[in-house]
Amino acid sequence: MAWRCSAPTNAGLVDNLATANILSTPRIIAAMKATDRAHYSPRRPYDDCPQSLGFGATISAPHMHAHALESLSPMLRPGASVLDIGSGSGYLVSVFSKLVRPGGTVIGVEHLKELNEAAEKRFVEEEGSLAKEILQKNEVIFKTADGRHGCPGEKFDAIHVGASMPAVPEVLLEQLKSPGKMFVPVGDVNEDQYIYEYTRDAEGNLTRERLFGVAYVPLGDVEYYYARGRKLVE
Ligand code: SAH
Repeated sequence: MAWRCSAPTNAGLVDNLATANILSTPRIIAAMKATDRAHYSPRRPYDDCPQSLGFGATISAPHMHAHALESLSPMLRPGASVLDIGSGSGYLVSVFSKLVRPGGTVIGVEHLKELNEAAEKRFVEEEGSLAKEILQKNEVIFKTADGRHGCPGEKFDAIHVGASMPAVPEVLLEQLKSPGKMFVPVGDVNEDQYIYEYTRDAEGNLTRERLFGVAYVPLGDVEYYYARGRKLVE
């Protein structure tokens, strides 16, 4: 199902994800078509598999981005606030930003300074003069920080986590608005990992559902990543 979605173009890749029923929401399909992965993936952008960004980090496979966007889609409305923890290449930050305009905000939290600077540069390359305005107005923020505790004190309509953690801390769940949704890989790197979808309803009740098995890099220490290479893949 996954690698079969590879295509020679961005539009072809997105069409294949839709044909495979991984994508179905027209707004999500349009936002992915408007965000050419070639700006964010240093190698083979339209292959449906992860690609190295350097430092042991990867841009996730297109089908994972598609699953995450579809899962969070009810919350990705104009004016919404989104937190992307472990934002890596910046690809999802850009897609989220298109979906929450006008009036929305997207915070990408990435602990590797080199990756975060590259992500912001890629965003500016992709969105041109519009990006400068969006960044100046703080509608998109590329924050270099440890994301394990999210952005304490703030609340979000949607939270995406791009790296796996052994358990979701209470402090992160508290950052979900009512209603709100979180898409998060849970599990130790050397053990089984699964995607969990957390949903807080309008009354504040929190439920969670296990979706499918995955293999993500860990939401961990900077040193873990620097030990895997100090060079950005460009
Ligand atoms: N969604 C991103 C995924 C990147 S891989 C993309 O598709 O491009 C996971 C990212 O999580 C890596 O860039 C890694 O550096 C980052 N990460 C790992 N631990 C982190 C932490 N404690 N705080 C913030 N970012 C972290």
